[in-house]
This record gives sequence, structure tokens and C-alpha cells, in this order.
Amino acid sequence: MSLAEPAAKRAAKPQRMAAREMLARLIAFDTTSAKSNLALIGFVRDYLAGHGVESRLVFDDVQNKANLYASLGPGGPGGVVLSGHTDVVPVTDQPWSADPFALRESDGKLYGRGTCDMKGFIALALALVPEMQAAGLKRPIHIALSYDEELGCLGAPRMIADIKANLPLPEIAIVGEPTRLKLGNRHKGCYGFDLTVTGRDGHSSATHRGVSAIAYAARAIAYLEDMAERFRREGPFDPGFDPPYTTFNVGEIEGGTAVNIIARHCKVAWEFRPIPGVEPRTVIAEVEAFLTGNLGPRMREKASEAGIAMSEACVVPPLVPRPGSPAEALARRLTGANDTVGLAFGTEAGQFQEIGIDAIVCGPGSIEQAHQPDEFIELSQFAAGEDFLRRLIEWAKA
Ligand SMILES: [Zn+2]
Repeated sequence: MSLAEPAAKRAAKPQRMAAREMLARLIAFDTTSAKSNLALIGFVRDYLAGHGVESRLVFDDVQNKANLYASLGPGGPGGVVLSGHTDVVPVTDQPWSADPFALRESDGKLYGRGTCDMKGFIALALALVPEMQAAGLKRPIHIALSYDEELGCLGAPRMIADIKANLPLPEIAIVGEPTRLKLGNRHKGCYGFDLTVTGRDGHSSATHRGVSAIAYAARAIAYLEDMAERFRREGPFDPGFDPPYTTFNVGEIEGGTAVNIIARHCKVAWEFRPIPGVEPRTVIAEVEAFLTGNLGPRMREKASEAGIAMSEACVVPPLVPRPGSPAEALARRLTGANDTVGLAFGTEAGQFQEIGIDAIVCGPGSIEQAHQPDEFIELSQFAAGEDFLRRLIEWAKA
């Protein structure tokens, strides 16, 4: 579909849509991360235009996916961003008992891919747009929809950079990932990297003439495992997480050609998940120093073309808790919850926080149903999410 036409031309008359009908519409778009999300974005843009709300789209490099950002209420800085990702994880090889992209109700639950993670929250926010418009908001409410969150929060940074560069800065971001409306005020970060190890190949009988990429990849891996061990033993620790320390994982390795050939190539994918308070750049610099200062020179001594390159695959900054912050105070007020919780998953909240927007993770549904076959959101949670956003409107109009 073309998103180039002016929205006004295509906008039909304003549609009022109950939250549940909105959810059914959103679920029907197969926005698995590998696919384009433009059909969904076009639908949302038209819907918002029908209510007199302009959308700002920020595309990926190949114009196949877009983030959408829309502001309601008075212009200017402040107010709240309601943030959600439009993509969903694949349904491939999962035993669904019915079409994952057709919303269905059973036993007090709404089933479908994305119901809890996290089209449910988006549907509630969109369905309440007419109420927001009618409320005469004194503080802005912004809607921020991203792509490629499930691939490592890859899409949102472009939209967040656009907000920072070109728009008045909101004060608070509520990331509506499913927390059963508990206040998620902290999560670990996730930093993923690819190591590309290049050696020199040759016959395996003449190892003195070659450089095994696999052998040096193994040294790099052992170094990472030693670092992991150090963090496990020495901390820092945060008892709000399981486990309470920074973790490392080498998740993929691929290399070599045959047992009788010295390996020329080896690729390693690894990540670490720092708890808030561990400075990620320090960890990365330490690994880089080992690669460029130790392994690299040792490899090049034997073959000038040999070496190790490290590239960033994904960056999800941690959400750093800020007790008593405006986001926490607002979410407390809207939910009545007193306790905060640490989250076992990464979100876009840390990315908002990085540009100075105070962020909290709070949304309906449970993360236990996320990514599962027969994903669902309980009707009671869906209704609680609607109440939550209605209270937000009350707050924003006061
Ligand atoms: Zn999610």
C-alpha cells in the first residue's frame, strides 16, 4: 500500500471502535517481525486522521516498516507517551488450536497472536482516542508504535531519535508490555554482538603455516566465559532479578570447513545482559581491548590477513530504576499499586530513558502468555487496562 498519499484524502469518516473490535483489527494484520508492518501502520494512520490526529512516520532503510508517532492534546513538551510495538513473534511450528490472526474469545480470554504482547495495549490506546480528543486534554498524550521490537528493539531508536531532534520532549513514557499492570521500574539491558574471526587456511598436517579461526574464537569465548564468571561471583548484584547479576551468553557458533582443513572462518554471536548500574560501555571496551590488544596481534604475527572483528547486533539499554520519579509516581496513581517489580525481559523503556524521558513498563496481560501458542489476554486484564488508560485521561485533562 502507498503511505505517500496525504492522509486526509484517504481518511474515511471518523470510526469509533470498541477496544475489542480494535484488537480484532490489529490482530488480523500479520505483523510477524520478518514481515512489513505497513498495512497496520496505514490502518492506524487513517483511523487517527479520521479523528483529526496527524501521524508522523519514521521508516526503516528499505521503507518496508515504519514507526508511528502521534500527539493528542496541547502541543509543547511534557505529557505521556503510550508506547507499544506493532510486531509479533512467529507462529511457525507452534501448536495453535485456531487461526492465530483471528481474534477469538473463550473462557473469559481473548486469543490471538499479539493479544498480550502487545497489541492489546495498543488497541486500548487507539480505541480511547475519541475520548482523549473529547476530554480537552491539558497535558499531551502521545502514541508511539514501533517495529522490530522482537528482534532486539531495533525500530524504536529511530523514532526516539526523531522525537529528540525534532519534537517537544514528553516527560513520561509508559511502555505497555504485559506486567499485569504492575510497575516495572527496572530491567536488564541486552547487548548483542557478532564476532567474525578470520584465520589462514591450509592442510591440517601443516598447522604451523596456518591460523585456526576456530582456535582463536575458542579463546574469545573462554574470555567471555571468564568475564561471566567474574560477574557471577563479584557482582554487582540486584536481588530484584533472577539471576541477580549480569549474564553473558554465547548463543551461536559457526566455522570451519572440514576436519583436515585449518579453519579460515569462524563466527560467534554473543550477548550480555547488564543489570542497571553496570556500565555497558565499560564491559564492551574491556572485551574490545582483549580482542584488539591480545588476540588480534597474536593472530597477525602468524598471518597478516588474520584477525577478529566485533560488530554490534543489538542494543537494548537497561531500564534504570528511579524511585519516586514522575513516571513511577504517575503509574502508582493510575494503578494504585505500591510495589515496583524488576522485569525479566528487555523493553524500549531504557531507550526512552536515554534521551531524558522518564519511563516505566506497565501494561495489561501477563508475559507468561507472550510468545506462546494460543497466546491470550484475560478479558479482566483487558478491562483493567482500559480503566488504567481512562484514569490517565482524567489525569491529563486536569
Ligand atoms: Zn513485547
